[in-house]
Parts: sequence; C-alpha cells; structure tokens
Amino acid sequence: MAPCLVTVTTRNTELLGRARALMPGGVSSPVRAFRAVGGEPPFIVEGSGSRVRDADGNEYIDLICSWGPLVAGHAHPAVVAAIVAQAQRGTTFGMPTPGEIALAERITLAMPVVEMLRFVSSGTEAAMSVLRLARAATKRDAVLKFAGCYHGHADALLAKAGSGVATFGLPDSAGVTPGTARDTLTVAYNDADGARRAARERPLAAIIVEPYAGNMGCVPPEPGFLGSLRETADETGALLVFDEVITGFRVARGGATERTGVRPDLVCLGKIVGGGLPVGAYGGSRALMAHVAPLGPVYQAGTLSGNPLAMAAGVATLDLLDGAAYARLEAVGAALEHGLAAAARDAGITARVQRIGSLLTLFFTDRPVRDEDSARASDLARFAAFHRAMLRRGVLLPPSQFECLFLSLAHTDADVDSVVGAAASALKEI
Ligand code: PMP
Repeated sequence: MAPCLVTVTTRNTELLGRARALMPGGVSSPVRAFRAVGGEPPFIVEGSGSRVRDADGNEYIDLICSWGPLVAGHAHPAVVAAIVAQAQRGTTFGMPTPGEIALAERITLAMPVVEMLRFVSSGTEAAMSVLRLARAATKRDAVLKFAGCYHGHADALLAKAGSGVATFGLPDSAGVTPGTARDTLTVAYNDADGARRAARERPLAAIIVEPYAGNMGCVPPEPGFLGSLRETADETGALLVFDEVITGFRVARGGATERTGVRPDLVCLGKIVGGGLPVGAYGGSRALMAHVAPLGPVYQAGTLSGNPLAMAAGVATLDLLDGAAYARLEAVGAALEHGLAAAARDAGITARVQRIGSLLTLFFTDRPVRDEDSARASDLARFAAFHRAMLRRGVLLPPSQFECLFLSLAHTDADVDSVVGAAASALKEI
C-alpha cells in the first residue's frame, strides 16, 4: 500500500494565502512580510503582557511590541480600561476634546522644548508636517537627513531611509519625483563634519535626526555628535529636528532631549504617546508653532487627529511611566544585553549587542556599528537564520537586522532568561 501523504496546512498559512490575494505581500506594512528572514509571518490573534499568540495557538515572547508603542506590554489593564471607558462615550467627534489637553499637558511637561504641539495620526505625518513647518519658518527648501535614519514614508524623507527601506535594500523609493529628491540631502549618521559641510554649502530648512538611531538597528550618537548638529544649525540658520517617534518617553520621560541635554527646535513624537493606538505629534516653541493653521499659514489637518481613544490610551500609558518604570526598563534591557552577548560568546559567534535602555540590537558583526555602512557590514544571512531559529523557540524578534528589539514593563526576569536560553541554543544551531 502506498504511504498516505498528508499535507498539513496551518491556519497561519491559510490566512497568509488569503491575505496575499488581497494586500501587497499580504501585509499592511512591508517588513511584516518576513522577506528579509524567510518563512511565513505568524498571524497574531491576541496579546497579553509580554506574550502574543498566533492563529495556530503558538505563543511567543514578543520583542517587537508593535515596534515601540507597547512600553507597558499588551493589553495593560489601565490602558484597556481607559480605552473602554472612552469607547463607551464615543470614539471620534471631529471636535476638540479634553483628552487632547490631558495628553498635551503631559508631553509639554516632560519635554520643555515642546511648548505647543499638534496631534496627528502617525509618525509619518508628524515628520512630514514638521518639514512643512520648518520650510515655512525658514523660507528655505532643502533638508538634511542621515543615511539609515527613518522618519516615516513622506516623499521628502525616503532618501537613504532606514527600517523597511534599508531592509529591502532600496536606496530610495520609486515614485518620489527628482525635484523632491533634490531637496533632501543625506550624510552618514555620526558624521558631524559632513553635516556641517552640507549645511554651509546649501541653506537648509531643517536638519532632522533620530537622536538615538533605531532604524538601522540600535545606533547611539557618538559623544559630541548631537551637540555639533546644534552648533551647525545655529551657525547656518537651519532648524534642528529630533525625531523622537521611537525614543520619546522610552529612553527617558523627556526622551533623548532629556538624556543628552541637547535642545532641538522641533520634536516629532508617535508610538508610546498613543499607547498602542494611532498617534503622532510634532511640537516646539510657541513662536514656531504659531506658523501652524489656524494661527499661521502652514496648513495641516486630520479627521481623526487627536482621536479620543488614542488620547485616552496615551494618557493611561504615560501615567505608568514613573522613575521606577524607567529603572525597570534599564534593568531588563541590561539583563538582555548581557545575556545575548554571553550567549554569542559561548557559541563562538561573532556578534555585538548595542543598546540604549530598553532598545537593543544583536548585530552579527565584530565592528562597532556607528552608521548605515557599518550596520550593512553585518552578516544578514546569519541574522535571518537566527530569526527563524528563535521563532521556532517561541521568541518573536523584529524580522530584520536593521531594527531594534523592544522591551516593555511587562517583560519579566523569567522572560529574559527564556529569551537568553533560546538564543544560546539558536546561536549554537546556526
Ligand atoms: N520616525 C521614526 C524614528 C520611526 O521609527 C518611525 C516608525 N518606525 C516613524 C517616524 C514613522 O512612524 P509611523 O510608522 O507611525 O508612520
């Protein structure tokens, strides 16, 4: 009798097939398609604390945490209660609501540079709008960004961008006009001299930077880099923009601005300030924000901007972030850093961990990663194998070398031990 061959189609595989027929790559954001690591992305059906569960019932320790917003973990009771209470009163009004004031007061208190702000619905919108404001305020066109930094997918900011753009090896995106591309200059991250030269050569509206880069993996600024950008901006009349979409309320309550002591002119926020719902914000001095409609001529608007559910989730999340919370995020980050570094050493694998607080990246390279080129020197095939091996062991890592692992207050010491144990065995296997 011939053997009976049974093909097992999992629920994940079935969902992926249906999704691919409906959406490019089956996803709503490209990196989720797992192209850089191979295999199929799990379809997540629920999350609680540090864990998520997929459509086949597999459970993972989640080190993506929705790419940053979930600093309190999945479905934190205080955040859920705030969302439910607001939902029962209505989800959107298209009119001013008290929730916007509550969230704006918390942000301006934590970030003195932000005297006034405008809420939008994503980090992309925040960065896109901040450029429009900077161009209007300076009456200049050009902007300078750093290779490997990602500021969302507005046309002007897609040159040499990090995150998914780096993951897919796209130098720039198709569909951006040459005219737009001409107004975006790029230099290497941590290249303070290059930034100064660029700013002296062409009048810049803005120098926009991730103060701690998170979109080519975790790359801290070298000592003096951000201070030098401040000086260059002052010398040349450009506005300095810190894109704190990842770092805001994560590396400190006052973000990188608090941690580094360097004061930008404008700040972009997103992720944590929305507590897991769609939010972005940009802000700065009263004088600069007075350019924004209706006070000034810079038009920018949104049907769902300042959405009440998002404001409620943001307020509930920020209210969890006291001194003890930041001490915990640092401790859990340090424990994972040391555990992963030791696991790589024991396995005889060339790798280094770079970390700032609860953001970290295990780079498969022996050299310090200080810019996009050094990040690209990592062994991407080894990262992909590591990612797959970790997924099989119940650990969900960001599916690209050029991303940070995100930890949350929900990650326990036991979670860290489990991740390190999985890494020790995965690194030996690859
Ligand atoms: N800026 C930075 C620093 C980011 O990391 C991101 C997204 N990861 C964005 C902007 C864009 O935010 P969003 O995905 O909400 O549009």
